[in-house]
Amino acid sequence: MKILVINCGSSSLKYQCIDMNGEKLLASGLVERIGIEGSKLTHKKPGMDKKIIEEPMSDHKVALNHVLAALKDENYGVIKSVEELDAVGHRVVHAGEKYACSVLINEDVVNALKECSSLAPLHNPPNIMGIEAMQELLPNTPMVGVFDTAFHQTMSPEEYIYAIDYKYYEKYGVRRYGFHGTSHRYVSMRAAEILGKDIKDLKIVTCHLGNGASIAAVDGGKSVATTMGFTPLEGLVMGTRCGDIDPAIVTFLMANEGFDIKAMDTELNKKSGVLGVSGISSDFRDIDAAAKEGNKRAKLAIQVFNHRVKKHIGSHSAAMGGVDAIVFTAGLGENSPTNREAICKDLGYLGVEFDSEANKSRGEERIISKENSKVKVLVVPTNEELMIARDTKQLIDIDK
Ligand code: ADP
Repeated sequence: MKILVINCGSSSLKYQCIDMNGEKLLASGLVERIGIEGSKLTHKKPGMDKKIIEEPMSDHKVALNHVLAALKDENYGVIKSVEELDAVGHRVVHAGEKYACSVLINEDVVNALKECSSLAPLHNPPNIMGIEAMQELLPNTPMVGVFDTAFHQTMSPEEYIYAIDYKYYEKYGVRRYGFHGTSHRYVSMRAAEILGKDIKDLKIVTCHLGNGASIAAVDGGKSVATTMGFTPLEGLVMGTRCGDIDPAIVTFLMANEGFDIKAMDTELNKKSGVLGVSGISSDFRDIDAAAKEGNKRAKLAIQVFNHRVKKHIGSHSAAMGGVDAIVFTAGLGENSPTNREAICKDLGYLGVEFDSEANKSRGEERIISKENSKVKVLVVPTNEELMIARDTKQLIDIDK
């Protein structure tokens, strides 16, 4: 069974073609600058050089047509005809309170996702464009929607209700939704497998530390708390997003800097985080390099970031009444031993015995706590695409 996984952004899209017999990656790629001059498709087949296709791609349908052509190509393709694709799995950011798990896409689902667009105006519209374009290109192929918010739908009202007038929850759906759900679900499942335990018996804190960053408390396989909220702006300090701040800062800056809504939104989403504190970059590799040369604000940005992660590991353990395992994933979580060590070094009170030697690895599954550590610490590279492909397979198997 071959499954195509699609992740559509506003001007870019990523794809992976996976053979579910053995969960083997057949090909992957990225289209950039859709609808903008200079459109470019980069297609990768494992073991071969990258293939770059530079052609005008005016919209997602044209771009996806190029993706299908690349997948069928005689030299660097992986299928003979599109009929070989058994299903398409789509990543969709926001499913509101509508879906707590992945679903087979039909007209009702597309309409429900359109209703959620006001909650994720930058993400859902391109996600839906990708679904509709694919439906036109492959009208007979089943499609599945996998949602970033779905995993967190198991949170209880005490976790998701904000202490503002309840009418805003009723009127607009203002509540905590949480994001990165597919990643938190994947790494918590893998962590249980690596530890040889049933996930139902584990309390796991998952730390997805990439450009966007969030923590989740996964109790018995279910998300019970998470740092991201109504939008992906809340919680941890991120590359360019502020995470938790006193909400009064917003009105203070609007009054004193004369920011309008759009300018304020740009400040919080694009100019804050470790970029804002360091004044150097949103990328930890640049900030680390500057800190090593003695740049004080770079050092401060790293400290602020790590401190916030440490605090939320504590709060998320508290939300579950304990913790058995802490998992690090995504760009920084998988690749930065120094950040992991700084975050874990004071977690002895929880029962963490950190293993600095084991921690000296990058990008591979590994237990980085000492053998007798009461709380295990793990690095688990995330694989959202595989999770989407697995959900897609499961749903079309049920449908058969
Ligand atoms: P996204 O949220 O965009 O998917 P990623 O999960 O790819 O982000 O994470 C990207 C971030 O991971 C980079 O901005 C960088 O800060 C961090 N990162 C990646 N590799 C390393 C590394 N080797 N050392 C330190 N930080 C890294």
